[in-house]
Amino acid sequence: MAFAGDLHRDGSGPRHGGQRLLLVEDSRMFSAVLCHRIHAELGLNVKPCSSLKALKETIAEGPGDYTMAIVDLNLPDAPYGEALDCAIKAGIPAIVFTATFDLGTRNRIMERNVIDYVLKDNESALDNVVASVRRVLSNRKTRVLVVDDVDTTRNVLVGLLEAQQYVVVEAASGPEAFAALEAYDDIEIVVTDHHMPDISGYELTRRIRRRFGSDRLRIIGVSSSNDRMLSASFLKAGASDFLYRPFVAEELQCRIANNVETLTQLKQLRAAAACDYLTGLYNRRYFYDLGPKLVNDCLRQNATAAVAVLDIDHFKRLNDTYGHEIGDEVLKAVADRLATIFNGGDNLLSRLGGEEFAILFPMMDSIAASKLCDEIRSDISRLKVMADDEELSVTVSIGVAEISDYETFDNYLNAADQFLYMAKHKGRNQVYSDARMTEEAAQ
Ligand code: GH3
Ligand code: MG
Ligand code: MG
Repeated sequence: MAFAGDLHRDGSGPRHGGQRLLLVEDSRMFSAVLCHRIHAELGLNVKPCSSLKALKETIAEGPGDYTMAIVDLNLPDAPYGEALDCAIKAGIPAIVFTATFDLGTRNRIMERNVIDYVLKDNESALDNVVASVRRVLSNRKTRVLVVDDVDTTRNVLVGLLEAQQYVVVEAASGPEAFAALEAYDDIEIVVTDHHMPDISGYELTRRIRRRFGSDRLRIIGVSSSNDRMLSASFLKAGASDFLYRPFVAEELQCRIANNVETLTQLKQLRAAAACDYLTGLYNRRYFYDLGPKLVNDCLRQNATAAVAVLDIDHFKRLNDTYGHEIGDEVLKAVADRLATIFNGGDNLLSRLGGEEFAILFPMMDSIAASKLCDEIRSDISRLKVMADDEELSVTVSIGVAEISDYETFDNYLNAADQFLYMAKHKGRNQVYSDARMTEEAAQ
């Protein structure tokens, strides 16, 4: 198959402004399914075009409106990939969706710096197109550092990554790479050459690994060396992957995509492990993980912190009267209210378990924390939860303890728990703290 023109993407690069996608496809079935799935699953608005003529008209109306295109190479009025050239000429990054495929076609597609190509020859074709669009959206938020002292080879790597819409940062040496890691704390992938005059890629990998684990940053080594041991050395030094030059573009792109995917899955696992399934708040494990670090930061600065344990009053009675499901709804409503109150602040909120929540207040003393807790108590007592056409309300009791000395984290919580017990004992729907105890003792 021949391509109509030999037009390359203009210098303006990919457009990141809108979130609209052009779908150039003459098969009604493919077009209908993709329009629906891309909108439903990825939230993009899709503009379908079934011919080159329709594509030209759409682009003429607003060439800057589209963030990417999916392009069929064979259309009734454009059998030789003219639609792809048309999209690229308009500066719209394209995913090719094609039934015709051979090495010549592949080479001509790759010359045009497409994002990706997906073949129509199997039952997963539609899933693969949706996955490719999803990857583009993720790549646009993924920062990759490319380290290579030779401009030409670095530019090739940068070109391949930018074609896939990654946000690329370049470094021409080890020190420049460290400066980039310092300047951008969201770099997730480092692609590094090995032979460089100051620090080798191998040494760079070792030094990066001292600071960043492979669950946070992936390193991919690349080299044209003949030394067959080099890949093993890189991997043993902590590289996540290695490629010998010359490599096929798709191989590098797939390996990077796999590493990005691994990081995404690790992030999801970490988030799931820290999250309480019912309320979406942080769970006890996360509270006990981060809490001691926050307390130590305060104590090191000779400041105090405070911890509160909040417990819903007579929750068992509510469960017994209305059932466990309504109980869950009330728990969620209280959690949502707490999350809204603490959203964006420095305080650490979690569900400890059952109907018990804990809040750590860094850089706060017991008096200030108790005042805040009393506002929360009052706020929750005004909360209305709808259950079977009935409006339910609950109250909470809160125990607050100040943290001013190094002790075990459990000790701080036990102290707050004892004050919570006092609040319950004194009639519930109130806050009890060390400050209040001292005040009462003085009277
Ligand atoms: P108090 O005012 O002294 O705190 O009394 P209470 O009834 O709130 O406390 P108690 O500890 O006796 O009962 C807590 C109840 O919370 C018992 C348990 O069945 C219920 N519970 C624990 N976890 C959940 C949950 O995830 N969902 C629901 N619906 N109930 C839960
Ligand atoms: Mg209770
Ligand atoms: Mg309880």
